[in-house]
Amino acid sequence: MMITDNIGLYIHIPFCRSKCPYCNFYSVGCNSELINKYKSKIIDTVKESPYCFDTVYFGGGTPSSIGSSALAEIIGYINHTDNCEITVECNPRDISEQAGEKFFYELADAGVNRVSIGLQSAVDSERRMLGRVSGKKEALKGIENAKNAGINNISLDLMIGIPEQTPASLEESLKYCADAGVKHISAYILKIEDGTFFAKNKAKYNLPDEDAVAEMYLQTVDYLDKTGFRQYEISNFAVPGYESKHNLKYWNCEEYLGIGPGAHSFINGKRFYYNSSLTDFINNSPPVDDGPGGNEEEYIMLRLRLKDGVDFALFDKSFSHPLPDSFFDYALYLSNNGFAKISDTGISLTPEGFLISNKIIFELIERL
Ligand code: SF4
Repeated sequence: MMITDNIGLYIHIPFCRSKCPYCNFYSVGCNSELINKYKSKIIDTVKESPYCFDTVYFGGGTPSSIGSSALAEIIGYINHTDNCEITVECNPRDISEQAGEKFFYELADAGVNRVSIGLQSAVDSERRMLGRVSGKKEALKGIENAKNAGINNISLDLMIGIPEQTPASLEESLKYCADAGVKHISAYILKIEDGTFFAKNKAKYNLPDEDAVAEMYLQTVDYLDKTGFRQYEISNFAVPGYESKHNLKYWNCEEYLGIGPGAHSFINGKRFYYNSSLTDFINNSPPVDDGPGGNEEEYIMLRLRLKDGVDFALFDKSFSHPLPDSFFDYALYLSNNGFAKISDTGISLTPEGFLISNKIIFELIERL
């Protein structure tokens, strides 16, 4: 069997202790019998895979909720490169205090070298609004526990646009993250998704309006830049050298295999995904074909999420033709209005451009 190298592996862990009011991701409650069945199915699927992975990412759901032993056992069956980046997303409540020390030592022994902690806000009242029971103390203890176990590549998740959030309270969260000794920060704008508790009860919440959210996004970019976190994607910031290798694969149109309900894959020019059903996955339901991937529209769409943007020569080489004049005309309009930067070698969006990236990308793709 041919072993293909340099592929990312995403493993979805769809278990959560409770449902957050803003979340529309597929997840189910933590049930030890179900977790065991799921773990076995993940191990069987991983064992059958013909690939050697250079990044592994456990996302959720809440990967830390299934415990370090289960995660370590799964990693033991993954065929990966020696310097593979292995990330586990963690909820602060699972990684603080004593349990957290054991948790990270076991993960570090298994090869985990990166963790992503779902802080969302360092303001306890905002965290409670998001349905989070643990606070900033637990997150700090979790960071200390991870470092004691030798895991120094740590990311914190923040959210912009939380009900009641103000520039002052956001600054408190940003300061907390910048001072926490982590290498990476993800800052996502809260989107009120249909069907969520927030969507159904929107009127009851004091949500910052669109302009206020845009201002807070620009405040975030500016604050993190001044504290040494370089923006490398719309919502991601890192100390140089600590960008997420796994997530960069998505935006660079590189190959990855996704395992678990709702997980998506892109291999050999084909996209496919598993249904968002734990039962279907455990009962061997095969992945669903999602058509071809990696065409020029997709490439432009994904690369423009990155601060490095689209490289003209690379586009030319990948698709055997240059970008059309109409693309450049619109790019020039964007540049003149502060939404993009154009150089001799490429085009990238500015933070102001990132705020309306969906519209910009649509317009640029229309001109291909
Ligand atoms: S936000 Fe995360 S922890 Fe909360 S329900 Fe969704 S997947 Fe689970």
